Amino acid sequence: MSNKETNSEISGERLHIFRHITWIFLNAALIATMFTIFTPLGLTMGFGNGIEDIFSPPSAAEQGNQFFPTPTNRPRPLIGIVVGHWGRQDDFGAVCPDGLTELDVNKEVASRVQEALRSEGFDVDLLKENDERLTGYKAIALVSIHADSCVFYNLEATGFKVAAAMATARPDKANRLVSCVYSRYTEVTQLPYHAGVTDDMSSYHAFEEIHTDTAAVIIETGFLNLDRQILVQHPDVIADGIAKGILCYVRNEDASPPNESLP
Ligand SMILES: [Zn+2]
Repeated sequence: MSNKETNSEISGERLHIFRHITWIFLNAALIATMFTIFTPLGLTMGFGNGIEDIFSPPSAAEQGNQFFPTPTNRPRPLIGIVVGHWGRQDDFGAVCPDGLTELDVNKEVASRVQEALRSEGFDVDLLKENDERLTGYKAIALVSIHADSCVFYNLEATGFKVAAAMATARPDKANRLVSCVYSRYTEVTQLPYHAGVTDDMSSYHAFEEIHTDTAAVIIETGFLNLDRQILVQHPDVIADGIAKGILCYVRNEDASPPNESLP
C-alpha cells in the first residue's frame, strides 16, 4: 500500500514537473513566434513580413508598395528586321521567270518572323531597305532578310548564307548572332549552308548606318530556284528558323552549330 502511495506521489510529482516544463516550452515557442512576426523583412531572408503572410498573402499592389518599386510600363526589348529590297524603286531583288520576286518571299518571311518574336514579348520593327530609322538604329538585334538568285547555275546553288556586319564595335556580339542563326536555321529548315559569303553581304549598306552596339546580320534564306519549294510553300518554317536563331542570341542559349564548323 505504502509503496503504491509513494509511487503515486512520485508520478504525481513527475506530472507536475512535466506540466511545468511543457508550460515553459509553450511560452518559449510563443515568444519565438512573436519575435518572428516582428522581425524586420531583412532578417527573415525576404520570405515575407511574418507568419500572418502565410495566411493572408499581400496583394500585388501591396507588395509593390511595400517591397518593390511600383511597376512602370517599360518598353519591350526591340528587334529590327530589314525586309530585303522593300521600298526600293524597280529593285525587287532576284526575279523568277514566272514573276515571283525575292521581295515577295522576303516580305512573307519577315512578317512571320515579326509575329513569332512579338508573341515572345519583343517589339519588332519591319524596316525598309533604305529606312530612315536605320540611321543610329538601336536594338538588341537586327536581321536583314534576303534570298538568293532564281537562276539555275548548277546543283550546288542551294542553301542559305549568314554573315555579320563588318562595321560593328562589337564583333563578338555579331558573331554570336551569326552562330545562333546558323545553328537554329540549319536545325529547323534542314537547308545546307552555302559557303561563300560575298562582300555584298558583309559590307551590306544598311549596316553602315546603324548604332555600332546593335548586333546585325544578313541572311540569304535560300535560292529561289532550287529551294523555291520551302521558301514559297513553307515560309513559316523559314521564319521559325530565323526567329529561333534570334531568340537563341537574345536568351544567351548555346549556339554550337549542329555538326559542321562555321565558315
Ligand atoms: Zn536580296
